[in-house]
Amino acid sequence: MIKLVCPECRRENEPERIYCHDCGARLDRSALAKAPQTEEDPNATHKRVKAMFDPGRALMKKRFFDYSKLILAAVAVAAIVQMIRSPDLPEKPKAPMLPVQISLDLENATTTPGSPQLRYSDEQINQYLGYSLKSKQTALSSYLNFERAVVAFEQDLCRLTVERSMSGFSVYTSTAFSMAVQDGTLTVKNRGGAIGRMPVHPLLMQYSGLLFSDLAVVVERERKSVAKLASVEFQPKLVVLTPR
Ligand SMILES: [Zn+2]
Repeated sequence: MIKLVCPECRRENEPERIYCHDCGARLDRSALAKAPQTEEDPNATHKRVKAMFDPGRALMKKRFFDYSKLILAAVAVAAIVQMIRSPDLPEKPKAPMLPVQISLDLENATTTPGSPQLRYSDEQINQYLGYSLKSKQTALSSYLNFERAVVAFEQDLCRLTVERSMSGFSVYTSTAFSMAVQDGTLTVKNRGGAIGRMPVHPLLMQYSGLLFSDLAVVVERERKSVAKLASVEFQPKLVVLTPR
């Protein structure tokens, strides 16, 4: 089929056009007369021309893009709603309870040979975190006010949620990780996470260290002690620490 090349913008136009579809320049239709006439099925020509000027088709295209934009906007709004929704967390304790002396236990477990195995429920760890992080508020509140850190233990997995606030509005970031100790080295492997209730893929969570780096600094002493143990094992609602 002969195309009419626009002298202005070089767009190839259908032979029926007089003006360029893109820029509106007048097309040189003399090229058509010079070109050898090729046979085209009159039905095909009819269909082609109809499609070219069919307002329904253009409208459908426009509607499709309008709906697509609407759906994208809805997805974005849904993601934001999920991000600002708070995850299921235990109630904040009214008065700070006296926590178990976990750092002391850890110290003993790493220094005294033949120390017994340490077993803590996630509730106990949360009490400990609540108590010990309170005193380290300033180190934690460089960007947003640190509210609390809450852990939940599952089989081979620890979920950590940190609540931070900005002018009374809470932001929750969660990370799930597994832990292994080998020859004095603690390996933490990310297994996913969430912002509010919106899940974040583990691959992305690898780069989220910054979100929890302030907390990591604050529990550095405990982290070092755990690295000296023989093993750390997460079980449903329980962490089992075995000294060497
Ligand atoms: Zn043109």
